[in-house]
Amino acid sequence: MAGASSGPAVLAIDQGTTSSRAIVFDRAGGIVATAQQPLPQHFPRDGWVEQDPEDIWRTVLETARQAIAGAEARGFALAAVGIVNQRETTVLWERGTGRPVHNAIVWQDRRGADRCRELVESGAAPAIRRATGLVPDSYFSATKLEWLLNHVDGASAAAENGALAFGTVDSFLLWRLTGGAAHATDATNASRTMLFDIEAQAWDEALCGEFGVPAPVLPEVRDSAGAFGVTDPALFGAAIPVTGIAGDQQAALVGQGCLTPGMAKSTYGTGCFILVNAGRERPEPGEGILATVAWRLGGETVYAVEGAIFNAGTAVQWLRDGLGVIGESAASEALAAGLPGNEGVYLVPAFTGLGAPWWDAGARGGLFGLTRDTGAAHLARAALEACGYQTADLLDAMGGAEGARLREFEAGRLRADGGMAANDWLMQFVADIAGAPVERPAVTETTALGAALLAGVGAGLYGSLDEAVAAAWRPDRIFAPSMPADRRKALLAGWRAAVDRVRSGA
Ligand code: ADP
Repeated sequence: MAGASSGPAVLAIDQGTTSSRAIVFDRAGGIVATAQQPLPQHFPRDGWVEQDPEDIWRTVLETARQAIAGAEARGFALAAVGIVNQRETTVLWERGTGRPVHNAIVWQDRRGADRCRELVESGAAPAIRRATGLVPDSYFSATKLEWLLNHVDGASAAAENGALAFGTVDSFLLWRLTGGAAHATDATNASRTMLFDIEAQAWDEALCGEFGVPAPVLPEVRDSAGAFGVTDPALFGAAIPVTGIAGDQQAALVGQGCLTPGMAKSTYGTGCFILVNAGRERPEPGEGILATVAWRLGGETVYAVEGAIFNAGTAVQWLRDGLGVIGESAASEALAAGLPGNEGVYLVPAFTGLGAPWWDAGARGGLFGLTRDTGAAHLARAALEACGYQTADLLDAMGGAEGARLREFEAGRLRADGGMAANDWLMQFVADIAGAPVERPAVTETTALGAALLAGVGAGLYGSLDEAVAAAWRPDRIFAPSMPADRRKALLAGWRAAVDRVRSGA
């Protein structure tokens, strides 16, 4: 029964790689209602990863309805909707019918790897970096969209004629939520397409030409907070304004309150992503580290530097779903903690290649140091340890990043979140191996919180992002590093030897 009004609330639609979630937050960042559904993935070939856009939509719609009903039952009034999404994943649909012309090509998909290798060999990398801040890689949307335009019958001509719409998942969801009224994205999602000039804040004509992307297929790029449109009343029984959109890692940066230059967050989900707020000037980070848009508000762009690792939680998922050695992901914690050390067992989870700082699409995973005593606990520990080692690798690479002001990290703190942040053993290991305290917030759903805060700013519930973060971000626990330096060095040496063995050029 709806009681007296409990105040305004914001629905965050959190469309992730492995699940769709809907979370309703109150103004203080408290979780009012939540719903979640798993999202199927398809692996048609080695290195190919697809999802059915109808599955994406169905899971979003059902979880959103469930969370809204939960919030309304508690007396909350929905003031706004924010969207946060898996980035780079590419959808192409018909404007007339709203029907996707193919499965979505997921960010992890490597089918564009050869194309990217050719680009690098032809000397295109510096120009791509200058415009987009990115390293030519099939991770980004450009080669995924190029593939769709070239492989779906008639797609290229239809795109040219304006009959098709391209979007990352946010655009696709916005289109469906608004009943086809809005074809737009925000600057953070645009910055991950490898088609967008992050300084000019405009689609790059030369790159669109290179990948055969005609202008009529592209969404309009807007601020991360503002009026994107209103939901079709047929969906939720009312027209609710959509007022915030951001890619998942950028939303987490907001949801972790990293609003000043140098503040850093690390998210442990399917992949692992470290973003550092780089301020209002476009950064020029070192090799293997990306320059990207942190958010855009009032037409003003804030930048971030980013280190991306493709496989973190996937290693745990593989133990659970592929090998069946653990019943649930959380069981990895007790198994890992039960061993006194890793006993020389290393897992390099390069299932779809290696991300930063190696950017090696040809690498594949490896498991090293096996003996007859190796058991499930060793595998679980190695899977978790891999997240810690990859964090240390990224921080090392970012430490040298010219233009990135890593003040908070230098001051010794990394704010951690994501599904794996619930794992205390992992958090302690990250602190130990990175040699820096790891701070975990009270609300680890920081991607969803970030979207809610952006949407709250867009809807006028908060006067500014600073006000939003002050109202909603609270720490839970700090994990202080306690590993002796020689042990840390030895573990890192073991890890780096294992990485050398899986690199495709090695
Ligand atoms: P995404 O948003 O990228 O889909 P999440 O942030 O929900 O992912 O994280 C899910 C990942 O975290 C999965 O790969 C899962 O195996 C892993 N995971 C979840 N809980 C734990 C845990 N307690 N310990 C280790 N791994 C975990």
